[in-house]
Amino acid sequence: MGTLRELGEFEVIRRLTAARDEAARALAPAGVVVDSGDDAAVLAPAPGMDLVVTTDALVAGAHFLPGWCPPRRAGGRLARANLSDLAAMAAVPRWALLSIGARAESAVEDLLEFQSGLAGALAAAGAALVGGNLTAVTGPEWYSLVLLGECPRGGAWRRAGARPGDLVAVTGHPGRAGAGARLARALDREARAPEWAPLIAAWTDPPLRVPLALALRASGAVTAAIDVSDGFAGDLAHLCEAGGLGAEVEEAAWPADEPLERAARALGAAPGALRFGPSDDYELLLALDPAGRPAAERAAAAAGVPLAVVGRFTAGPSRPALRARDGVVVPLGAGYDHFGS
Ligand SMILES: [Mg+2]
Repeated sequence: MGTLRELGEFEVIRRLTAARDEAARALAPAGVVVDSGDDAAVLAPAPGMDLVVTTDALVAGAHFLPGWCPPRRAGGRLARANLSDLAAMAAVPRWALLSIGARAESAVEDLLEFQSGLAGALAAAGAALVGGNLTAVTGPEWYSLVLLGECPRGGAWRRAGARPGDLVAVTGHPGRAGAGARLARALDREARAPEWAPLIAAWTDPPLRVPLALALRASGAVTAAIDVSDGFAGDLAHLCEAGGLGAEVEEAAWPADEPLERAARALGAAPGALRFGPSDDYELLLALDPAGRPAAERAAAAAGVPLAVVGRFTAGPSRPALRARDGVVVPLGAGYDHFGS
């Protein structure tokens, strides 16, 4: 198909737009009054709904290693990262805008593959690409998505809202994505062995938690929420800070995670450092009203998603703490600082 330089900007935009329109037509998204072909999209949120908006970007080399994340998978990953933010607000994903910073020598096919992976992951959650932008860069390539969703007026989950005594609950297997990324860097090709597949997949193909979030919203059990994008400890600290609370996490309440424990041995790391440390798992970290716990567990079981209740919020403000198996209480570590070491 050729490079961006060979095809030229307008031809590349024409191909991206045609592929995008084809994907959107298959989905027939509601609320799109005007999409591509004009200078801006015109969207009509449903009556009585709040608009919920997020954005996230991927930079090649920093957020994904091209050798591990071919374009289609990287596109899916960017979609899932944004969808995770809407899940954390209990919003229904609807419309998206994709901006690409691409190098002239890049293959146009790779851009189309990226967009296709992204549009497919959005469509699986009911959202469609309704516009975008292409710009030339000379440094690392990047992809930035703006995702819009809806939720009933005043019904979005917030980071603040938990009360002392509310339960700390988390979906999936926190720490696996960060462990997968570390394995890929440390073991290189050996990390492709089947034994590491659950950890590599957690990193390259993060889960979609929107359906569970919407079922949990209906249960009324959630008092505060965030998605795990920095790591369990860091994101729990964000919840505590927003709510003016503390939290105590019980090591003994965590289900065993055998792949994570194997990764800890291979990396020479403490299992807790992987489980609680930097990891963009895109799981849901929730505060639950104790009375709503059975309803929340039923919703998770119906969605086929593991949900572990691992602690309680306490009167604060204070940093989250971990009660180890031997009863000793220690601080729960820090999250991922993008501008730190
Ligand atoms: Mg988030």
